[in-house]
Amino acid sequence: MGLIKYLKSFLDLIFPEKYICFICDKYDESISMHICDDCLESFEYVIDGCKICGKPFYELSEICDGCKESNRYFYKATAVFEYNNSIKKAIYKYKYYKRSYMYKAFGELMLNLLKANHLEDIDYIVAVPLHKTKELKRGFNQAYLLAKYISEKTFIPLDKSLLRIKKTVVQNNLKSIQRHNNIKGAFSLKKNNLKDKNILLIDDILTTGATADECSKTLLNGGVKRVYVLTLATTRYN
Ligand SMILES: [Zn+2]
Ligand SMILES: [Zn+2]
Repeated sequence: MGLIKYLKSFLDLIFPEKYICFICDKYDESISMHICDDCLESFEYVIDGCKICGKPFYELSEICDGCKESNRYFYKATAVFEYNNSIKKAIYKYKYYKRSYMYKAFGELMLNLLKANHLEDIDYIVAVPLHKTKELKRGFNQAYLLAKYISEKTFIPLDKSLLRIKKTVVQNNLKSIQRHNNIKGAFSLKKNNLKDKNILLIDDILTTGATADECSKTLLNGGVKRVYVLTLATTRYN
């Protein structure tokens, strides 16, 4: 047994993995599903989001102005949390500090929302793909790990035919219209098993919805019937 492996199994005896919060690293025997109460309380669940894009917004209406003004290619998007500072930091840790195992904590929360939404008509799960070079650099695709977790727990098969064929610049500093142009034509379907199927598209964050929309457009062009989107977090519409 290698030294690291030996240390890991030794540590697991004293600190079993199931009692460790994957977000803040705290050890507590009341922890379940890899997340402590303090971390969970620092996140804000989305309540009454827009019926189409799932974003929380202020007006007393069912659909946000963004969805009224432009058609979405996806049928409906939902997110577990509003993108506040705590979930932002947690997702940053997950993606950029090589903490790929955090998918277990996040995946479980997404799975709970999926179950509550009774989405029985999903045929395949698809992750928003990363460009190959980006995935190599990061070591993993954060959306794929979440999608794989949900697929294993629901027995809905995972499909990997959606590819990212265009390198895009980091979207954080782009305005909505620039994001749409940046992501345009970024995806392609390798082969098509998805004709007339309903897809659940998985990503970590939904911001303007440009990425989810472009993936959905590619899928619909390939004959997909309907695309549902599930993300861990979403920004507020304002
Ligand atoms: Zn915690
Ligand atoms: Zn909306």
